[in-house]
Amino acid sequence: MDSKSSERFLNIHATARVQSSSSYSSEVVIFQNYHEEILLQDKRSGSVFESLGSYPDHLLEGSTLSLDVDNFTPAYIFRRLAKELNDYDLSWDITRRIFPESQRRDLPQDKPLFITVLVESTRKLYFQREEMCAICLDDFESKPVCILPCCFHQFHRECICEWIDRRGHDSCPLCRHPVQ
Ligand SMILES: [Zn+2]
Ligand SMILES: [Zn+2]
Repeated sequence: MDSKSSERFLNIHATARVQSSSSYSSEVVIFQNYHEEILLQDKRSGSVFESLGSYPDHLLEGSTLSLDVDNFTPAYIFRRLAKELNDYDLSWDITRRIFPESQRRDLPQDKPLFITVLVESTRKLYFQREEMCAICLDDFESKPVCILPCCFHQFHRECICEWIDRRGHDSCPLCRHPVQ
């Protein structure tokens, strides 16, 4: 569908503390969360009308990665991350957070560190707003809009709710794709 585009936004936080005394090596634990946000865009200006909400990304699941590390030099951390994540950009972004955190002046430099990294990754999906709702043939200006996740067709929220709930249909009124 050519009226659809997407962008990725990353939000990364790293926090370091001294490793508990029972452990001997430094450790990095990375938590990754993936979301997708659906946004409606004006056809001509490209400006965003409204957000239809943010959901866990159904294509990707959250993951946790735990690494024992020898040191916190950027080259070493990057090499370890790139091997595990298979993503050079993301690996550099995380390395750029880990290195300064490991150098924090309130941390003793001779003790192993435990660094947790939280990666929030949001895929923003942009859809051009259609002219009108195919159920009631009225425009989209006045009422809240809903996009069907199965086929990305747009309707007024109240129109598609009535179509599915009250009239008992189980498919998209435009393309008949089954609605889960
Ligand atoms: Zn409608
Ligand atoms: Zn459809």
